[in-house]
Amino acid sequence: MEQERVKCLIIGSGPAGYTAAIYAGRANLQPVLYTGMVFGGQLTITTEVENFPGYPQGVAGPALMEDLRAQAAKFGADIRFGTVSAVDFSSAPQLPLHRVIIDDEKEIVADAVIIATGATAKYLNIPSEKAFAGMGVSACATCDGFFYKGKDVAVVGGGDTACEEATYLSGLCNKVYLIVRKNFLRASEIMQDKVMNTKNIEVLFEHNTKEIYGDQGGVCGVKLWYKKGTPEEQERDIAVHGFFLAIGHTPNTEVFKKYIHTDEVGYIVTQGKGTQTNVAGVFAAGDVMDPDYRQGITAAASGCKAAIDAERYLTNRL
Ligand SMILES: Cc1cc2nc3c(=O)[nH]c(=O)nc-3n(C[C@H](O)[C@H](O)[C@H](O)COP(=O)(O)OP(=O)(O)OC[C@H]3O[C@@H](n4cnc5c(N)ncnc54)[C@H](O)[C@@H]3O)c2cc1C
Repeated sequence: MEQERVKCLIIGSGPAGYTAAIYAGRANLQPVLYTGMVFGGQLTITTEVENFPGYPQGVAGPALMEDLRAQAAKFGADIRFGTVSAVDFSSAPQLPLHRVIIDDEKEIVADAVIIATGATAKYLNIPSEKAFAGMGVSACATCDGFFYKGKDVAVVGGGDTACEEATYLSGLCNKVYLIVRKNFLRASEIMQDKVMNTKNIEVLFEHNTKEIYGDQGGVCGVKLWYKKGTPEEQERDIAVHGFFLAIGHTPNTEVFKKYIHTDEVGYIVTQGKGTQTNVAGVFAAGDVMDPDYRQGITAAASGCKAAIDAERYLTNRL
């Protein structure tokens, strides 16, 4: 297998990966970045981004990511198309050299590695969800809630995230339906209380989403089943313009799990305020280590931290 030695390897081409590449490039770490399958990360699948600082008129997600890519390339980042298929982070702690396999065909041996592989939102897997993605269907209330100001929307999910998203949207929207599969909420008591005591949130217990419908302008409503599969089963239709999924995320950490500590969901656990993982010289940045914020700007900020942490680690090691 072809082998290459690099000082700083960055895995992922979202805001965290590209920002790490900008800082690592300017610190002369000669970063090599592998993009993965989603070239530019999650923001490339959204249209308008209005909350990334520096763009007062807003910016299209793909254009924002192209700006970040160009800025990273300007400072010497070697950006390559490829996906990490395996890793070996078991080298001796005295001289850690991290082995990373790209597409089962090339081995990179790196002094420092920054993992910025993101977290993928879970979907219900109904066809209409894809058809209206970005046209009323969203997996991020903080990102897209503003577009539904004064309108009626639905949130699907019964945990803390769903309750948080519903509460957030209740401050912006006219009415929020919370669609819950069970006859109870899994959220913490404090979040449940908040939801149950917010006048413009209506909780629809024992409801399942059947289909999202709409027209060229986007989502117009959702067809629901009440008590699906029981003698009391009924169909219900709610008129909404936004449909927010809040049923969880899957951090993209499967390939690292043998060596890198994760929490029970799969998010990488880092030390203190920094980005150091349990393996010396391996750092994590962005949504892959952040179950709480998951925003472009927070991912970019942690990419910055990871590059600074990597630079300090490499300097102290010499
Ligand atoms: C529809 C949508 C709209 C959004 N809108 C906004 C918004 O308006 N404002 C905002 O701030 N945030 C928004 N977000 C959230 C924002 O996109 C994320 O918080 C941010 O992209 C996270 O950045 P990241 O770099 O951590 O990961 P990602 O952007 O998820 O990037 C992960 C990268 O890792 C790569 N990767 C994964 N596995 C591998 C592997 N094995 N090998 C190599 N590479 C790999 C992927 O190809 C990808 O390039 C939105 C998210 C979605 C889904």
